[in-house]
Amino acid sequence: MEGFEYLQKELDEMKDKGVFRPLTALESDQGSKVTINGKEVIQLSSNNYLGLTTHESLRQAALKAVEDFGAGTGSVRTIAGTFSMHEDFERRLAKFKHTEAALVFQSGFTANVGVLSSILTKEDVVISDELNHASIIDGIRLTKAGRRIYKHSDMQDLEQALQETQSYRKRLVVTDGVFSMDGDIAPLPEIVELCEKYDALVMVDDAHASGVLGANGRGTVDHFGLNGRVHIQVGTLSKAIGVLGGYIASTQTVRDYLIHKARPFLFSTSHPPAVTAACHAAIDVLEDEPELIDRLWENTRFFKEGLQSLGYETGKSETPITPVMIGDEAACMKFSDALFEEGVYAQGIAYPTVAKGNARIRTIVTARHTKEELEQALDAFEKVGRKLNILS
Ligand SMILES: *Cc1c(COP(=O)(O)O)cnc(C)c1O
Repeated sequence: MEGFEYLQKELDEMKDKGVFRPLTALESDQGSKVTINGKEVIQLSSNNYLGLTTHESLRQAALKAVEDFGAGTGSVRTIAGTFSMHEDFERRLAKFKHTEAALVFQSGFTANVGVLSSILTKEDVVISDELNHASIIDGIRLTKAGRRIYKHSDMQDLEQALQETQSYRKRLVVTDGVFSMDGDIAPLPEIVELCEKYDALVMVDDAHASGVLGANGRGTVDHFGLNGRVHIQVGTLSKAIGVLGGYIASTQTVRDYLIHKARPFLFSTSHPPAVTAACHAAIDVLEDEPELIDRLWENTRFFKEGLQSLGYETGKSETPITPVMIGDEAACMKFSDALFEEGVYAQGIAYPTVAKGNARIRTIVTARHTKEELEQALDAFEKVGRKLNILS
């Protein structure tokens, strides 16, 4: 069909530059090893931190929910698509997060868009870290509130932003808890202190901290001992939790308001029973099997130290997200392809996901990886690094 030549032209230019990436399809489940193009490789690119995507408790909960309640819900939450299991799970989540209430959205992406687009008006302003996730940026695009972007985790710039915005009715400071491309943790204690000093609200997006940081994976707020001092926590059920969804954990007022005003919540169908049941089982696993989180961190330390002693630059990561900095976009993609040949799947991340010239191989180890698998992966990194002259 004709009409899209202008798009094809842009795609062809991307191919010339070596940055066009077809989708990679897994032919196996999301384990520590996966099958891609018929080849078994070590998976270093998933967000399946605790291996919960294939955990037996989650599988059984999902199967039982399908048996008892079917495959779908047939409605949005606000009309006929709220099942008691949705509300049971939200009460469970709120209790787990030590907040008054929680509300589940279809994804972390729509949770951010739903909250940010609905709770602020043109009398208000949102103050956002420059490296916040795309879903925060899109949520901000949809609000009529004023915007001020502060330099990444720069508390001087944040304070200046708070001083400059005192004429607004409400100020909402929003930050990722863990930054998804560099793996650094937001300086939340300082952010909370500044917000208390200037009477601003704080919102933390804990997508990469849920199941990873804090007691039993409660997130950065718990990690820093800030329970009760952060107004809105956003979490995802799609990463360490192993299923799909996003949620806000906040007050009853915020929950009630979002039910009436958050458009992704109002106009998109609720989670199928299997999703909700599996998510509920995952929270139980976080509480019952804390050793999974211990193993995740053990593996993280082992792999990070291994990369560093090979001579790789791993940026400022403090979490299982460990970037291997390459720089040039095309070189990075070549590196990723060569790793695949050596039995390792680690996707290259380039502009526009990260700044130009900052391309990197982004790795995440999981609790499920064995020491042997991680050693094998490090060998591959060494071999490819020497072959492509990235290691001297
Ligand atoms: C992944 C991610 C999201 C989106 O979560 P999904 O549940 O995958 O939609 C939101 N915020 C941050 C910081 C993320 O890393």
